[in-house]
Amino acid sequence: MTRIASLRPEFVEFIPDDLARGVLYVSMQYATAAHSCCCGCGREVVTPLSPTDWKLIFDGRSVSLEPSIGNWSFPCQSHYWIRHNHIRWAPHWSAAQIAAGRGYDAAAKSRYFDSLDQEQTKMDEHDHLAFGKPTPTPTFWQRIRKWWS
Ligand SMILES: [Zn+2]
Repeated sequence: MTRIASLRPEFVEFIPDDLARGVLYVSMQYATAAHSCCCGCGREVVTPLSPTDWKLIFDGRSVSLEPSIGNWSFPCQSHYWIRHNHIRWAPHWSAAQIAAGRGYDAAAKSRYFDSLDQEQTKMDEHDHLAFGKPTPTPTFWQRIRKWWS
């Protein structure tokens, strides 16, 4: 399988049944983007565009998607970012590492979120600026929680 190094955006109304390699299909009407997995396995990666899913950035020439694409449910388990039409690959993790990492991260994140909740309570009582970092928006953390649970 040959990895795809870049994607070019194609704005369509309907996402086609057969996705051409190297094309990021974007349907504004249905707030959805889709592409053929960049590892070359050919699986269809559908990324809904919404405040709690993915965000598409089109600068007039190239597209970027946020957050990263983590195809954990595919056999390839590829993980990459789409930045200005280019694919940036995350370091490869074995299945065992992903399982271990997810378990570890879930526990770590749950502790982290608990502490965030506590901080949030403190922040409500005190000056926000004293903590020296921006308050995370609820949708962002809800999404991460959903992602890791
Ligand atoms: Zn793949």
